[in-house]
Amino acid sequence: MKEQVAIFFRQVGRSFACGVPLLKALETIYLETEDVNWKSIVLDILESMQIEPSFSLALKNSGANFSPSLLGMVQACEDNGRLDSGLEDIAKALEESVILPFFEESDTKDIDEEMGLTYLFALFDKNQPSDIHILPQSESYEIKFRINGLLVSVDRLSKDLGVKLVTNIKRASCLHLDITNLPQDGRIRVKHNNESLDLRLSVLPTVLGEKVTLRVLNNSNIILEPERIFTNQDDLAQFNELINIPFGMVLFCGPTGSGKTTTLYTAVNEFAKREVLSVSSIEDPVEYVLPGVSQVLVDTQSGLNFAAGIRSILRSDPDVVCVGEVRNEEVFSLMNKTALTGHLVLSTMHTADCLSTIEKLLEIGVDSFSISTALSGLVCQRLVRSLCTKCMVKETVSKNVALEFDLEEGSEICSASGCDSCNQTGYRGRVAVYEFLKINKEVKDMIREKDMKGIADYIDEKEYYSMRDRGVQLVKEHRSSLEEVIRQFSQM
Ligand SMILES: [Zn+2]
Repeated sequence: MKEQVAIFFRQVGRSFACGVPLLKALETIYLETEDVNWKSIVLDILESMQIEPSFSLALKNSGANFSPSLLGMVQACEDNGRLDSGLEDIAKALEESVILPFFEESDTKDIDEEMGLTYLFALFDKNQPSDIHILPQSESYEIKFRINGLLVSVDRLSKDLGVKLVTNIKRASCLHLDITNLPQDGRIRVKHNNESLDLRLSVLPTVLGEKVTLRVLNNSNIILEPERIFTNQDDLAQFNELINIPFGMVLFCGPTGSGKTTTLYTAVNEFAKREVLSVSSIEDPVEYVLPGVSQVLVDTQSGLNFAAGIRSILRSDPDVVCVGEVRNEEVFSLMNKTALTGHLVLSTMHTADCLSTIEKLLEIGVDSFSISTALSGLVCQRLVRSLCTKCMVKETVSKNVALEFDLEEGSEICSASGCDSCNQTGYRGRVAVYEFLKINKEVKDMIREKDMKGIADYIDEKEYYSMRDRGVQLVKEHRSSLEEVIRQFSQM
């Protein structure tokens, strides 16, 4: 039957290309068809066509159960006005089994088992990504993994298989299969290689189909030991100093994927370990479940937003309050009150560095006096890719580069090359660079006067190293490349 269907589409396409009207072409094919079953299907299409002049709709309305991918391809050809050449492509796709002619239970079952999480995990083991992107293209689906912060293409599927994969993943996370035109969010918890993996799923309807993004949260592998997070002794000392204050507010900042949430959890975990303290959090979402912490999940539909969460936590006698993210002035002002009434408040902000965190707070409408009284410290961070030690190449620092980056002229640094063990990227793994700012009297005064230049100079010149300086330090130690540091900090 598969051959029969392919021949049919080829014949229709050729007749159409010769200027024969569709109805006429179908009549001729009907008369010439010998196979009884197929003849009745062609008649069915012919009759639908007399009522509905669209070829794809006629196929859909006919008694034959054509596969969604076949119908989709025909509709796309029709929409683009290329039924003549398009139907030839469809015939080829059918012959090469790229698409199925009919929707068949048995066929979908086989593909179902392969094209789901099993398929993704087979790719996953080789690459260990932090995010998985399933991207619809006009005629295919592309699978991309975020590895060391950058998106890398790892596989390409036919449109048909891509749609199957998306459907199966939606099914695994109990999302509505019949909704394809609205965004949906979900979660899948799986055991893989004896590790518990949490996959946070978001489905976005795009013009080319549903795009699925999976964020991989590995609960059993998360390291929350300050000694292992801060490999630099100076960073560790500054972190310990910040979290040993009895009350006030500490913000952990950085762009998406900079690891700020992990650093926040490390701090929260340190307090939870001291069993004499009551630690509560309001989060959206709860990324990791921490023993000893009363974690509350934001539920805006029932009115439990960040502000309501902080208010109810305050009634439960807390010592340390963790707020997932500072999103607006109302939340900051509640956190401020909490901090000034003898609690320690920890939170995150989505900003580039210490200076821009203060600017952002002013921007969302917090007055400079509140910022200066509430804040005790800021920790900002960025992840820089580490050079692959197997393929990095040495180079000598030129005069211009030496001047611009405070390096020694003629000294040796390394740049990325690419080999099999680093997927030809030149980098393996990432290392965090931090910027700490303790809000002492001097900084408080500058914040109150909105003296941004003063704060910038203070970060640059005082005992604190800026993140860019830390990045250049990594270049000196041959742990990262100058290109990578420029890529990360060109805006700063
Ligand atoms: Zn390499």
